[in-house]
Amino acid sequence: MGTTATAQRVVLGEGRSSRRALFEDAHHPCLGSGRALSYSAVRGKKSVSRQALDELKQQIPLLDYLQAHDWKPARRLSRGRWMGLCPLHSDHKPSFLVDPGKSLFYCFGCGRGGDVIRFAELYYQVKFPQALALLQQWRGLASLLHEAAGFYRMQLHRHGEAIAYLHQRGVRSPELIEHMRIGYAPGGCLRGWLSRLGYPLQTLRQAGLVTASGYDAYMHRVVFPLEGNLYGRSLSAAAPPHRFLPGAKGGLYLWEQVRQYPEVILVEGLFDYAVLWQAGFHNVTCAMGTQLNAYQFRQLCDGMRIIYLAFDADANGSGQRATQALAHRLREQRLKVGTVELPQGHDPNSFFANGADARQFQALLEAARS
Ligand SMILES: [Zn+2]
Repeated sequence: MGTTATAQRVVLGEGRSSRRALFEDAHHPCLGSGRALSYSAVRGKKSVSRQALDELKQQIPLLDYLQAHDWKPARRLSRGRWMGLCPLHSDHKPSFLVDPGKSLFYCFGCGRGGDVIRFAELYYQVKFPQALALLQQWRGLASLLHEAAGFYRMQLHRHGEAIAYLHQRGVRSPELIEHMRIGYAPGGCLRGWLSRLGYPLQTLRQAGLVTASGYDAYMHRVVFPLEGNLYGRSLSAAAPPHRFLPGAKGGLYLWEQVRQYPEVILVEGLFDYAVLWQAGFHNVTCAMGTQLNAYQFRQLCDGMRIIYLAFDADANGSGQRATQALAHRLREQRLKVGTVELPQGHDPNSFFANGADARQFQALLEAARS
């Protein structure tokens, strides 16, 4: 917890300087602060109604919020409760209890507990009104990205150029398109759509969905929703190929669906992910690049597993160097690592798009194991 990535995700929508300030705040461990302010500080706050607070809490389940802040449940208890390391003090054995049903937490180590608002207060070391503002912002961005991604999904099948591009990249299965929630930004209508839903232009600009001149920032891109971000792949060779919203790229792609597999394949691009998933390799995840952020690295190391690295086999050797460096770091964490040797100049996407099948990729995995 307390990584740059986390703090940035939470306060997306503000300027970079304020993100930095918050990140620094988030780094002060709370242990021993002796801060005895109880949640009853809410009382007397006439500006926020009880009902608005309840609504906010309902819209931000504590477990979702904790997990978005990198918290990992370590052990399941009865009645759906979880134990994990406490994000509020330096904890070495799990003492942080979470009850997702009641959306409450309690730490047996530092003795603090409460609801999601209390957690935000303690985690960011802010007072109640600031914690509320952070949560509202967090909720706002999550719902804004949800709406934008939903709009792009509706557009995908209305635009032949987008479908043609997906086909060219080997993405054909409707099940896969549904699984990855792939969309398309035709340009020119996102802003109107979101304005009608009540989002001010200023909010869209702050989130990075709309450019300073008012255009859809993802125009003519195939769009994939990520955790707290959007990835857009340009259809045109004239535009920069990759686009993200400002802020952190988030964790490993759909990690929660993958982490239970004893063997995990890690790729660098979402189109690599797509073709592998389509070919039946559902134990695949993606780092959106070869450089893992600290959050992604911790995810990969959160259990004993074999990791197959299937990065691009670039002619200049950069993919291979990234593979070796990451393999070394993972082995230091005592994980088993296999490096998949693709034919020169290929990545998993081009390998499949050029006609390879699951059996051929399986053979590469087996070779990587030995
Ligand atoms: Zn604690």
